[in-house]
Amino acid sequence: MHQSHMIINGQQVTSLSRKTEIICNPATQEPVAEVAVGDRQDACLALEAAKRAFPVWSATASDERARTLHSAADMVRQQVDGIARLLTLEMGKPLKNARMEVLSSADVLDNYAEEGKRNFGEWISSSHSRSIVLRQPVGVAALITPWNFPVDLLAWKVAPALAAGCTFVAKPPSLAPLAATEFVRAVCEAGLPAGAANVVHGPGSTVGAELVENPISRKIAFTGETETGRWIMSHAAAHIKRLSLELGGQSPFIVCADADIQAAAAAASQRAFSNMGQICISVNRIYVAQEVAEPFTEELVRRAERLKIGDGMRPDVDLGPMFSRAQRERTKEHVADAMGKGADLLTGGEEPDGEAYERGYFYRPTVLNNADHRMRVMREETFGPVAPIMKFGTLDEAIALANDTEYGLAAYVFTNDLKTALRAAEALEAGGVGVNVNNVIDLQAPFGGWKESGLGRELGRWGLEAYLETKHIRLGL
Ligand code: NDP
Repeated sequence: MHQSHMIINGQQVTSLSRKTEIICNPATQEPVAEVAVGDRQDACLALEAAKRAFPVWSATASDERARTLHSAADMVRQQVDGIARLLTLEMGKPLKNARMEVLSSADVLDNYAEEGKRNFGEWISSSHSRSIVLRQPVGVAALITPWNFPVDLLAWKVAPALAAGCTFVAKPPSLAPLAATEFVRAVCEAGLPAGAANVVHGPGSTVGAELVENPISRKIAFTGETETGRWIMSHAAAHIKRLSLELGGQSPFIVCADADIQAAAAAASQRAFSNMGQICISVNRIYVAQEVAEPFTEELVRRAERLKIGDGMRPDVDLGPMFSRAQRERTKEHVADAMGKGADLLTGGEEPDGEAYERGYFYRPTVLNNADHRMRVMREETFGPVAPIMKFGTLDEAIALANDTEYGLAAYVFTNDLKTALRAAEALEAGGVGVNVNNVIDLQAPFGGWKESGLGRELGRWGLEAYLETKHIRLGL
């Protein structure tokens, strides 16, 4: 069985208490690995190691840091098979998707290798002085991540932190720490100073809390639930820490009467069901113009029924199991709630039949018709493979429905009219709006949420700025 250690001060270590836990495969419930589980003391040791490494790494020239990051990307690519396999075994996603996630995390390292070199200063002339504006690394960063994209979402933090000159302590999710830890181990092999990159395992309530509360960390970068983000924000306030919060979503998907219906249904199906709907920018609510509701709905159901479900290690599957029993229970509750309030079940709404599915947390992609805003699927984050459909009359009505939520991460609109596209894109309250695309992630562009979906931005130059402080040096003449 795979043994997953923590990484502190450049060493792979067990926890001080020597406590371990077994990680099981959500497709089979078979044990996959034994993981060292830390507590607050382990987190302190990691923070102290990162603090000691900070003067060395922050003083390293940006072109040298860039070479190390490129080499880290190479290390990750060389180890893609092993890391992707662990990712599938611990969280269920199909192996081909796990490989894509790991390769994308290598691309993020390459991108920030170059972005770090463009951390330019500014020069300001005044009557009696000259001013230089510098951007310097904020210090030790605590990076706390969830289980749905445990490698990629960590790479979005590790790469800009290192490019900026920060050192870090990462805390991967307790139930899926394997691939994330292997990713950081591969990054360390690129030749970082000991202590620049640390990983501690353990519960959010102790290890995560220590990383947030301990004054050594100057920056918290967190992806996870809005409730956890609220807790982190309030506790980070004690030391006025810098914060990046990527939180929950409840993304609307508007299909206008003039849209390409086939393309819209394909996009909705992919973004509602891939990763079993366990994506923060998943399509959660579909608003379709009355005139095209029937053909769109029929095509979405056809596509949902074509998806092949199974153990993620099999090469032919589109969808693996859900991550946990709890995730599947929440999905079932949301579907039952919607049906109790009048939604029609068009497909799915149950576990697939057959021996192959007996031990895993499988669930069929589900399409609900005649949904409305009294239903939990339309208001809460289901984080499951459910696509509820509601019809609309006018664009204004669709926009008002789409904005009727406390979340604001992503929104999508499908139309072939430029004026409609711009009107909707400008009016939708979300950090990312996809027009005729079902993904608002681009490594060069800012990603993050409005309203209770978050604070700050990751990716692109915005992601780098999140790890930098601004300094004004005034030279008297
Ligand atoms: P959680 O908020 O439960 O956990 C995320 C991480 O925070 C885990 O490592 C967890 O540790 C840790 N944690 C929990 N409590 C604390 C605490 N008090 N202090 C510090 N750390 C803590 O989220 P999930 O893992 O359930 O992930 C799903 C959520 O993530 C969804 O809401 C989803 O929308 C959101 N998400 C947002 C994205 C975005 O970019 N906006 C992208 C992807 C997901 P432990 O595992 O031990 O509980």
